[in-house]
Amino acid sequence: MATNRTFTMLKPDAVADGHTGAIIKIIEEAGFKIIAMKKTLLTPALAGKFYEVHAERPFYADLCQYMSSGPIVPIILEKDNAVADFRKLIGATDPSKADEGTIRKLFAKSMTANAIHGSDSDENAAIEGSFFFAATEQF
Ligand code: GDP
Repeated sequence: MATNRTFTMLKPDAVADGHTGAIIKIIEEAGFKIIAMKKTLLTPALAGKFYEVHAERPFYADLCQYMSSGPIVPIILEKDNAVADFRKLIGATDPSKADEGTIRKLFAKSMTANAIHGSDSDENAAIEGSFFFAATEQF
């Protein structure tokens, strides 16, 4: 089922600003089904592990600090062509370059505090989903 699933995470800025419900509404109205969801808090070490691929990048320390600064909402989603369609729905990493109507255009504050994460491949969607949810929660 991996090809029909993606992983997302509402980031601390979006959750703290009270946009959880509005963002989930957009996601469901776009045809994504929620498979698993919770509200949780990352430690800096766990944030560092999640974004390990960026460890050498200059923004890594800020990213880890930011991602552990408040609660997040990780979610596994299902839909045909989930990964690509979800990347379209959230918009560009840099919110100033995100298309009108995308979640980042609507809610992101900056390149770091950009409201939401979306997996970039089926393989990473499975890895990232399993980072937060046990196999028994991904039914
Ligand atoms: P995404 O797939 O669109 O989330 O982008 P990436 O996987 O490339 O980067 C992961 C996250 O790191 C992004 O969502 C941003 O929060 C942050 N990030 C990426 N590139 C930059 C950058 O150039 N500057 C800053 N400050 N943050 C960045």
